[in-house]
Amino acid sequence: MPKINQPVVVFWFRRDLRLSDNVGLYHAFKSGFPVLPLFIFDTDILNQLENKLDKRVDLIQQMLLELNHEIQKHNSSLLVKIGNPLQVFGELCKEYEIKTVYTNRDYEPYALNRDAQVEQLLAANKVNFRTYKDQVVFEWDEVLKQDGLPYTVFTPYSLVWKKKLSESKWIEFDSENQLSDFVSCERTNVPELSDIGFSKTGIQYFKPEFSLSVIENYDKTRDIPANEKGTTGLSVHLRFGTVSIRHLVGLAKDMNEIWLNELIWREFFMSIIMHFPYVVNRSFKKQYDEIKWQNDEAAFERWCNGTTGYPIVDAGMRQLNETGLMHNRVRMIVASFLVKDLLIDWRWGEAYFAQKLLDYDLSANNGNWQWAAGCGCDAAPYFRIFNPAEQTKRYDPKLEYIQRWVKELNTFDYPAPIVDHSIARERTLNTFKAALKSDD
Ligand code: FAD
Repeated sequence: MPKINQPVVVFWFRRDLRLSDNVGLYHAFKSGFPVLPLFIFDTDILNQLENKLDKRVDLIQQMLLELNHEIQKHNSSLLVKIGNPLQVFGELCKEYEIKTVYTNRDYEPYALNRDAQVEQLLAANKVNFRTYKDQVVFEWDEVLKQDGLPYTVFTPYSLVWKKKLSESKWIEFDSENQLSDFVSCERTNVPELSDIGFSKTGIQYFKPEFSLSVIENYDKTRDIPANEKGTTGLSVHLRFGTVSIRHLVGLAKDMNEIWLNELIWREFFMSIIMHFPYVVNRSFKKQYDEIKWQNDEAAFERWCNGTTGYPIVDAGMRQLNETGLMHNRVRMIVASFLVKDLLIDWRWGEAYFAQKLLDYDLSANNGNWQWAAGCGCDAAPYFRIFNPAEQTKRYDPKLEYIQRWVKELNTFDYPAPIVDHSIARERTLNTFKAALKSDD
């Protein structure tokens, strides 16, 4: 613990691991007190991760090294604690004279509950707790219908979102120009992965890249999985806040409306989860919970391992298993395949993605899985069933993406298809129809 003999304010980093255009940090600097930068490795979250070779945890640790390196240039240091946040704040209140804790809002159910408890604990210690909007341009209660109810369809939501954007005064928060207001203290180190019970996975931190030509051409290139530069690759940075959403929207609004729409989908799903928290465990359209899933465990395992005998599905799952990422077009194909060809509950696929995706985000993952299954708020109709062969012809006609991930394609080692797509399609249509008949 660094020794500090003066009153401070704390800035608590969470999903905002950057120094520039960081709203909460900006306000902490404005307080006039020296700012003690804090990150907590939350053991309540870490203990739930069974696999101690987790690429996300490895990545976060490397992001903290970067952040600490930058902070140390200003004669200060990032304080990294390991533990339950309530316990950590209890100790910090004893150790330092803290005036206020600043942080940016996080909208996931676990985070909302945690923050409410931290606020109470701080209040009991006479410490203020101030939270700010940083992760989104518009929060869940800022884009509503005229009657005050939430939108459940994307297009009208996005139109109002864009109108509000055109009416807002555009500001970025220059927290990066005030870094000398970090508290002066001795240097401390970021814990090693082994200190928190995890191991190195081989993943290497990569800085966010802003390729303006990718954004400019996004509408033409976004659907070709073989083209690694066809989409921006910023999702991981948006997840951990190593880029500012305001900066990205500033670029998108003048450059490419299709890309801007993707950023709006992100906020749409965040708002859905705030207004309809039951979607975390259940279908948005409740009658879809009546579907009689097959839930064949062996078939699920083949899907997870990328050995279904459907090359585009297998390529996607192998990309996910190896890199923690998968192209969006292929995410849609593998999700449709699990739910509609194998008739496996979408929540199984959602949970598998949650374990593996580097850019895992509860609201985006849940919203997109429900979209693919047909049970979401603005979902594909259930009878829209992706045909893997047709999708391959359209989006990977030269099999470039598939051959990158399925090396044994066209050899005897490659498995025969796990199901016949046209038979599976009929089975799904009948099963969904039976479950939804009360809705006809
Ligand atoms: P780009 O294509 O360049 O898009 C820019 C940004 O817009 C993305 O980084 C992302 O933040 C946002 N975005 C783009 N598409 C979507 C979308 N459909 N929904 C919400 N936000 C979007 N994205 C996640 O960030 N986390 C997830 O856990 C996640 N799970 C998904 C699960 C399924 C079944 C599907 C079909 C999609 C999922 N997506 C998820 C959305 C999408 O696939 C990724 O955001 C995208 O592939 C990331 O690539 P990119 O960074 O190159 O983004």
